[in-house]
Amino acid sequence: MGYETDLKLFIDGIWKTGEGRDAHTVLNPVNASPIAEVPYATKADLDEALEASNRAWPEWRSMDVEKRGAILHKAAQLLRERVDLIAATMTQEQGKILAESKAETLASAQLFDWYAEDAKRDYGRTLVRPAGQVSRVIRQPVGPVATFTPWNFPLYLLAKKVSAALAAGCTVISRPPHETPGVGTELFRALADAGIPKGVAQLVHGESGLVSETLIASRVIRKVSFTGSTNVGKHLMRLCADSMTRVTMELGGHAPVLIFDDCDLEKTLDMVVPQKFRNAGQVCVSPTRFYVQSGIYEAFVKGFAERTQKVKIGNGLEADTRMGPLANSRRPGAIEALVQDAKAKGARVLAGGERGDGGFFFQPTLLADVPNEAEIMNEEPFGPVAVSRPFDTFEEVIEQANRLPFGLAAFAFTENGRRANLIGDLVESGMVGINTFAISLADAPFGGVKDSGFGSEGGKEGMESYQVVKAIHQA
Ligand code: NAD
Repeated sequence: MGYETDLKLFIDGIWKTGEGRDAHTVLNPVNASPIAEVPYATKADLDEALEASNRAWPEWRSMDVEKRGAILHKAAQLLRERVDLIAATMTQEQGKILAESKAETLASAQLFDWYAEDAKRDYGRTLVRPAGQVSRVIRQPVGPVATFTPWNFPLYLLAKKVSAALAAGCTVISRPPHETPGVGTELFRALADAGIPKGVAQLVHGESGLVSETLIASRVIRKVSFTGSTNVGKHLMRLCADSMTRVTMELGGHAPVLIFDDCDLEKTLDMVVPQKFRNAGQVCVSPTRFYVQSGIYEAFVKGFAERTQKVKIGNGLEADTRMGPLANSRRPGAIEALVQDAKAKGARVLAGGERGDGGFFFQPTLLADVPNEAEIMNEEPFGPVAVSRPFDTFEEVIEQANRLPFGLAAFAFTENGRRANLIGDLVESGMVGINTFAISLADAPFGGVKDSGFGSEGGKEGMESYQVVKAIHQA
């Protein structure tokens, strides 16, 4: 299976490459070998994209919602038809196993279908007024949008932003990460082939600083949606402050998992272990801090370690691989440093703990008895590492779950209904999964609190994030 995506910029309806533009090499993380060259946008390309975005907006926003929806449905259909090609590109650029790449492609198609329909049900409201007077509240598209997305779910996170923004009537300029330009290109190819009018959806690969500074400073862009690290998110918010540009920030997490002694232990282990190592743990809602009630702690970590040792790592294109490499050369070293620090502070390594051979691999790892002073208890590992420690009381575990500045996702496993309700109320996070990890769904809002960012993606809230509210009063 080769790499088949033709990497180009898509500006004002034209696919562009060459012509003296810098090119960046794309690596396959399985063996660090080059697989493609991606052209980088120049300042002139960005200016052209801005001009086109601004020009295309009035027509797109006033297009009949059925017609707009038909283009989004068609893009969804093309993503499904091209699932094999897109998934192969994703696995070769990012490392995740082919089954996950295919599932991500299909979930991305579903987002376009969902928003194509949701846009038709975007009702405003009428306020009570004396006879003959009318006050109505409507939502309108915010304007041209810029999106910056990461490499961990290179298609889904991009699709989440682009589908909602386009459905809301906004034009979009997207900068995908340099690790996974092909997946982004395939999304825009589907939109182009679905008949998106020129200038409405544009793709600019490029140097992140140049792209974000140029787009945000332009005053054309009215909204920035970013997914990535808290540090870069704060940097972009500062840029946006100068132009009063609205933002949605989907940032890091450090999800606690509360395991109570009344859970079904074997069933829970069979769920949590594959979930931890999905996408090699490079998931912002990855289950990470396992707090396990004392009575079942040793049995839990033993069962977790046994299952972890059986996770087969390798090339994601091979059918029996269960976990691929990390996405880039920065990750193995960062994770190794966190594991070494935890060991030095008294953590037990019950599985893995080392880099893998070749490429950007790190072994699936379980650490037990990890003290709060260890950096990994405070910093998002964003890799295949689970950390665990025992707890005794409900109050204690809620305090531990809430002790970090992050608040994206939290999970709990318990058969006690009253306890489950309380967890839903008391844990400080944007999403809570109780006896489930299914928290990222087309119809549900997804987003964090505290340092995990603000604003929601997905669901009705996802489209509202690309709208402004207007009240119109008529006497
Ligand atoms: P990063 O924050 O440096 O980069 C995230 C994305 O933002 C990348 O696509 C990057 O190219 C882009 N970016 C970086 N600087 C930018 C700028 N000035 N303007 C616009 N875009 C910019 O993260 P990373 O080094 O790729 O990953 C490190 C950490 O980021 C991870 O450990 C994890 O904590 C976090 N992360 C979170 C998510 C998430 O889903 N929330 C995804 C990826 C990474």
